[in-house]
Amino acid sequence: MSIDRREFLKIAGLAGLGVGAAGMNLVLRGRAVDAAGFLPEPKGLVAKRWAMVVDLSKFRTAADYRRVIGACSWAHNVPDIGNKKDEVKWIWTEEFEHAFIGQMNKYVPAGIEDKPFLLFCNHCDNPPCVRVCPTQATFKRPDGIVAQDYHRCIGCRFCMAACPYGSRSFNWIDPRPYIKKINPEFPTRTIGVVEKCNFCVERLARGLKPACVEKSGGGLIFGDLADPGSEVRKILSKHYTIRRRPQLGTQPSVFYIIGGGEENV
Ligand code: SF4
Repeated sequence: MSIDRREFLKIAGLAGLGVGAAGMNLVLRGRAVDAAGFLPEPKGLVAKRWAMVVDLSKFRTAADYRRVIGACSWAHNVPDIGNKKDEVKWIWTEEFEHAFIGQMNKYVPAGIEDKPFLLFCNHCDNPPCVRVCPTQATFKRPDGIVAQDYHRCIGCRFCMAACPYGSRSFNWIDPRPYIKKINPEFPTRTIGVVEKCNFCVERLARGLKPACVEKSGGGLIFGDLADPGSEVRKILSKHYTIRRRPQLGTQPSVFYIIGGGEENV
């Protein structure tokens, strides 16, 4: 069952009638969503600090990228508006020079220089978007995920100005007519709302890894950065990785293994 802004406001009216935060959770529990994100279920995946590693060597064809981006778009009702100006993006690609500003040099191998890099919200440890949000519509969860409450968003776009990675999109037009097939398990958004990658909080709550990770053929590795035994930690200990714009001090939790750029798509 999907929940949209109007439905939420009806339910939120209960809060105004004296149902507190705990009561709100109870009201919404059957619908797997509350104002602050998806409620963990007993089998939900938990971590102290969720993180993603992108292994570019596993992305060899255009289809590899399409599978990952398509899985995210389906899972989250991301519209395909068809023009750059109104585009809404959760995962997208950029070439090295644009993805890793300041890290380019003229000796970078052509296979890396031209290869598309998958980009997401970095779920920064020190997220500037959270600091500037006047309504706390965006906030950092205890597990490190930078979440977005669509119902609290007033569309001021301060978060977009603050994010140095272009990870947020604004709905300039009603996105719903541009969703190819609506996933009833995830809310659709409305005009005037900011959105972005959520590291699949709704799937983690159900014990599932992010949709993109499942379709990545091992190219995306997701796990707990705080757990030395986790897969991400093991990979980070074996491979040299880079992050986007590290000089800004945001501490992104998305890491890139950039070797294996020998094949272009
Ligand atoms: Fe915020 Fe941008 Fe960092 Fe995501 S990448 S947490 S939107 S600053």
